[in-house]
Amino acid sequence: MATLAFHGAAETVTGSKYLLEAGRSRVLIDCGLFQGLKELRLRNWERLPFPPSSVDAVVLTHAHIDHIGYLPRLARDGFRGPIYATPATEALAELLLLDSAHNQEEEAEYANRKGYSKHHPALPLYGAHDVKRAMSRFRTVHRDEWFEPADGIRVRYHDTGHLLGSSMVEAEVSEGVEPVRVVFSGDVGRYGAPLYYDPQPPPTCDYLVCESTYGNRDHPPLDVFEQLAEVVHNAIARGGVMLMASFAVGRAQQLIYLLQVLMDNGRIPEIPIILDSPMAAAGMEIYRYYASEHDLSEGLAVRSDFQFSLDRVEIITSVGGSKAVNKLKGPGVIISSSGMMTGGRILHHLRHRLPDPKNTIVLGGFMAAGTRGRALQEGARSIRIFGAEVPVRAAVVEVSQLSGHAGRSELLRWLEPLPAPRQVFLTHGELASATAFADELRQVRGWNTLVPKMGQVVPLNHSD
Ligand SMILES: [Zn+2]
Repeated sequence: MATLAFHGAAETVTGSKYLLEAGRSRVLIDCGLFQGLKELRLRNWERLPFPPSSVDAVVLTHAHIDHIGYLPRLARDGFRGPIYATPATEALAELLLLDSAHNQEEEAEYANRKGYSKHHPALPLYGAHDVKRAMSRFRTVHRDEWFEPADGIRVRYHDTGHLLGSSMVEAEVSEGVEPVRVVFSGDVGRYGAPLYYDPQPPPTCDYLVCESTYGNRDHPPLDVFEQLAEVVHNAIARGGVMLMASFAVGRAQQLIYLLQVLMDNGRIPEIPIILDSPMAAAGMEIYRYYASEHDLSEGLAVRSDFQFSLDRVEIITSVGGSKAVNKLKGPGVIISSSGMMTGGRILHHLRHRLPDPKNTIVLGGFMAAGTRGRALQEGARSIRIFGAEVPVRAAVVEVSQLSGHAGRSELLRWLEPLPAPRQVFLTHGELASATAFADELRQVRGWNTLVPKMGQVVPLNHSD
């Protein structure tokens, strides 16, 4: 009998890894890194409950690190099969994995230099050479085309409007007479989000693995252009600099796009945009290359001829340049990674900018428990950076509309046309959120729902 095992994103938002088994075939859907709380990050160091060499193929939904960040380790530990992804996902994956390897190497190096790690020496989970090994296994497939990652398992992708290249996975598992259909939502995007098309409706299926990041919350019904313009005006009035934490791809490009549209339309003054992330700059190039995948129809007064340009954007490529940014008095916007402030150059900027009440720290999107981003979101008076407490005196504001995840109502809207699957698994949400959404689907739709536990294995039967 075919089975599905949850080896990540179970009762938490990170570490997505779902093992689909049928006959002798094993396909891993996503291969993400655990992020956030220390107890979660430590899981990245534990041996997987299955040998990587026994996996026939990996199928990726999108390029965020919580979905792909474990690939270099999987390849180092013996995985030799193909890794399937859309072309844009492959392009972004290389950038993001190199960024991830770099952050880990840098953090380990810094910990060793400052001697604050309990491990001697502190080691990175993987390095750039492991990323290269993983990248050599990529095979690209376009959306809407069936492919067969392993005997008896057919798969195709559909757009989820969450990130460039992002897709849900529709799988058909043939073991008995009739195939069993399983849909993996990946991360579901927003309706009417600038840059991205609306998510495609989920295909009819026997089993659905559905994300629940915002399963118990809605985003406020605000216009992202208005929200961001107000934040920029307030930040200028405070007299300091705006610091935005961003993943190297996705939010950085969306922010630059939004700021440029606002400046073009005279809704905010011309202020410098500093992109202190060479990865994000390379991400801009990838976004430009895949321009045909952008939906620029939304938003106010969007230019029909809009191109991702780097006009007005100063790109910092060296650490020296990064340090020089400290002299910027404002007004201005500094965009730097990582998104949840768990590593990367943003930490240096935070250490420098947080103690000054003139500055504004802009939060956008989901911050996992245990991250500095979540601490700031929850009003922390100080946060720990490089082993020292840094006081939070800068204004901390949230632009909730920058989130790339569907809110509760949007998830319900996405599921609206779907006939009842035999069972729905709520994953990729913290326990309260996943449980609330499971209850809601049970009550509103009468669906059979389950919040799987880490390591739980469920049988997949064909409807009788
Ligand atoms: Zn994502």
